[in-house]
Amino acid sequence: MKTKGLFISMFILIAVALTLADYATARQTPFEESGGKLTPTYEETMAWFADLAADSPLIELTSFGTSPQGRKLPLVIADREGRFTAADHHDREDRVVLLVEACIHAGESCGKDAGMLLLRDLAENPDLASELLDKVTFLFVPIFNVDGHERFGPYNRINQNGPEEMGWRVTGQNLNLNRDFLKADTPEMRDWLGMFNEWLPDFFIDIHSTDGADYQYAITYSMETRGNMDPGLTTWTIAYEEKMNAAMVTDGFPMAPYVAFKKWHDPRSGLRTWVATPRFSQGYTALQNRPGLLIETHMLKDYPTRVNSTLKLVTNTLSWLNTDAGRLRSLVLEADQATASPGFRAAPFPLKFELAEDSTMVAFAGVSYETVTSEVTGGEWNHFTGEPETMELAFFGEHSPSVTAELPEAYVIPPEWTVAIERLAAHGVELRRLAAPAELEIRTWKFSDAKWQERPYEGHHPVTFTSEPVTETRLFPAGSVVVDMNQRTARVVAHLLEPKAPDSLVQWGYFDAIFERVEYVESYVIEEMIIEMLADNPSLAAELAERKAADPEFAADPWAIRHWFYAKTPYYDQRVGVYPVGSLDSRDVVGELRLK
Ligand SMILES: [Zn+2]
Repeated sequence: MKTKGLFISMFILIAVALTLADYATARQTPFEESGGKLTPTYEETMAWFADLAADSPLIELTSFGTSPQGRKLPLVIADREGRFTAADHHDREDRVVLLVEACIHAGESCGKDAGMLLLRDLAENPDLASELLDKVTFLFVPIFNVDGHERFGPYNRINQNGPEEMGWRVTGQNLNLNRDFLKADTPEMRDWLGMFNEWLPDFFIDIHSTDGADYQYAITYSMETRGNMDPGLTTWTIAYEEKMNAAMVTDGFPMAPYVAFKKWHDPRSGLRTWVATPRFSQGYTALQNRPGLLIETHMLKDYPTRVNSTLKLVTNTLSWLNTDAGRLRSLVLEADQATASPGFRAAPFPLKFELAEDSTMVAFAGVSYETVTSEVTGGEWNHFTGEPETMELAFFGEHSPSVTAELPEAYVIPPEWTVAIERLAAHGVELRRLAAPAELEIRTWKFSDAKWQERPYEGHHPVTFTSEPVTETRLFPAGSVVVDMNQRTARVVAHLLEPKAPDSLVQWGYFDAIFERVEYVESYVIEEMIIEMLADNPSLAAELAERKAADPEFAADPWAIRHWFYAKTPYYDQRVGVYPVGSLDSRDVVGELRLK
């Protein structure tokens, strides 16, 4: 009996051990536990990663900041040798750091669930970890928009096919993080930029879900290969795209470029690409000399299909980065060096691009549709039948620069423009200050015809204007900020400070105050001055008559005429509309500045 009892005890012990071992290799994600129907909340996600990190020496859960509502911004780090700080990687040569980000639009959660699956597998499968993390350190942001994520519910995405509940697109402040990379208004983005500049990851992935039309592809992607990134990195990116397209065909998820239809919502109008401006994630990292991949899974596809196709593409990327780590790393460093060298400024720098009219025909795996006219609304809409249809479509993929800038040796910013200076600092731009006042010959702009967008966009009323180049000698006070363009962030600096850049600080409205006239003239003063001015300068009468004849509206407006005279007096403020930022073109002058 005694012996039998011992056997039974041992049997129980073995059974318990087996159960625990099975559990250890079969840690489930909330997505798996729900049979692919659910995505975890913020709290569940944090708790799950805390458990994973506690059990795995490869994984660390940390945070890169705090949201306005007080939530930690999570960063999961996977490294085979437990190198969990940015400083551990600063002198990497044949290794790379990959940053993958999910839930920047918190309702688009497939990246979060795919990342949980991948990190679980890496933590629990040593062979996989040695294959995929040999030359790569993997940073994962499971939820970037943490406050928007907790506006959780079933009605956040009207045509999304799962999960049952999801987060909300924008932040607690109603701002879209994927329009905020360059202007960096949100606390979340400024924390992200701090993390990004600390790690300077060599490759970046941002994961979304999209709609717009029905088609067969579960997953589409976009990369910056059309002129806004360093040429060496662009060539590398085109080769990476080819590798990924082939790998994803093998995995059963053929991809298409993330495109817009030339006529919105009408696939047969043709497919068009674009060059992402730096308000967008991958447009921004391109300026930082780090290639970025935008993933857009198709939200009409079921949730497990979206999660699995994302998992495959991230896994394939890890695999390729391990193979090609040394080459990517040296190209990134070469791009940094090239951007910081005088040669970078030799040619005009493209700020905006336009789509060429040329197109090629491509086969697009679409879904049949018919255009119907609604009896209720009177509007036309496309009824997708669900039948797969390969469409021969015009593909517009060529872009050429439409706005360029002559980049200076340095910019000088008077110290009172504090927000502009803070934004530059947030992007990791090296800033020095004048130790003493300096009289400098600069290039700048005088703006006129300023018009503000009526409706707010991302909390701003963006401004358009015409601009005239101005060369002048100006006294800059001590403390003025000097931005030497011999630095790796020169592309970012140009996009912030060149007024014609599409996301420039001027266009977002950070310099709106320069458009305001603050001194005026009363009628009883100017009317008497007008008499004197006409007496002193007889040619003025002829000039006024000509102006009146050319512009009847002017001729009928006494205040317009008074203003016309006022502008010819020395009391008139000539600084209205003049850009406070100066461009310095002389390297000798930059070299002689007394800086602190
Ligand atoms: Zn999105």
